[in-house]
Amino acid sequence: MSIKLAVPNKGRLNERSIEILNQAGLEIEDGGERKLYANVKNGDLSVMFLRAQDIVRFVHKGAVDMGITGWDLVLESGLDVHKLQDMGFGRCRLSVAVPEGRGMDSVEDIPDGSIVATSFPNMTQRFFEKQGKKVDITTISGAAEVTPYLGVANLIVDLVSSGSTLKTNHLKEIAVIAQSQAVLVANREAMKARGTEIEELASAIISVLDAEGKRYLMADVPVTSLDEVRSFLPGIAGPTVMNIMGRDDVVAIHVVVDKTAIYNSVNRLKRLGATGILIMPIDRMVP
Ligand code: AMP
Repeated sequence: MSIKLAVPNKGRLNERSIEILNQAGLEIEDGGERKLYANVKNGDLSVMFLRAQDIVRFVHKGAVDMGITGWDLVLESGLDVHKLQDMGFGRCRLSVAVPEGRGMDSVEDIPDGSIVATSFPNMTQRFFEKQGKKVDITTISGAAEVTPYLGVANLIVDLVSSGSTLKTNHLKEIAVIAQSQAVLVANREAMKARGTEIEELASAIISVLDAEGKRYLMADVPVTSLDEVRSFLPGIAGPTVMNIMGRDDVVAIHVVVDKTAIYNSVNRLKRLGATGILIMPIDRMVP
C-alpha cells in the first residue's frame, strides 16, 4: 500500500507545498481546488488534496499517514500528531488585536466581559484563562477583523502575517499567543508501522528545504590564493579543487555556500583574482 500524504487544497500553504514536493523529485500535478488526489508517478505515494483544517484530523485518525498543514491548526485542534519538520513558509502568529484609540495597550487593559471574535476558540480560551481574564469568546469562521467594526466583538484573536490587514482595519496587535508556520506531520501509529518510508519521504522534503538557503559556487582561482579561499569558503567537506587542463597557475573550485554569504564571497574571490565565477541554485541537498 502506498503512503498517503495530505496537502492543503487551497489557501496560503497550497502552492508552496506542491512546489516543494515537485522539487523533491515527486512529480505531482497541482490539480487546483477540484482535484482530490493524485498518484505520484515516480514514487509509492498517494497525494490527497484536503483542507488544511481537515488534514490535522485525518492525520490524527490515521486516514492519511502524513500531511502538510499549519502549526496553528495543530495547536488549535489539541490533537496529538508527530511533527517531523518545520517547513519554513506560511509563517504567521496568532495575536490579540484591539481597535485603535480605545486605551487598550496590553492584555491587562482588556475589561472583563469583553467579547473576543476568533476562529481559534480553544487557544483563545486557554490564553485568557492563563491571564486570569474573563472574556466571552464568539467563534467565527473567518474575517475576524471586521467584527469590532460591526459591533459584534470588542477585540479579536487572529493570524497575523505582515500586519497589513490589521492596519487596514484600524486594529492594534497587543499580544502574541503563538507562532506558526507550515509543518510536516505524521500519524503516530504510522510512524511505528511504516517509519522507514515516512522518514524517506520526510528526508526528501527536508533536502529541498536545506538547499533553499544555499548556492553552488564555481570559480577559477589562482593557486597562490587557494589557502585564503579555503579560509572563507569552507564548504561541506572543504571546497572541491580541480585542475584545469593546460594551466598550472589556476585551479577550479566548486563549493556550497550560504545564500547570505554569496555577496561577500564573490567580492573576496574577485579581489584574489578569481575569474569565471558562476553561482547556481541547488534543488536538493542530501547529506
Ligand atoms: P496579513 O495582512 O499579512 O497580516 O495577513 C493577515 C490575514 O491573512 C488574516 O486574515 C489571516 O487570517 C490570514 N493569514 C495570515 N497568515 C496566514 C497563514 N499562515 N495561514 C492562514 N491564514 C493566514
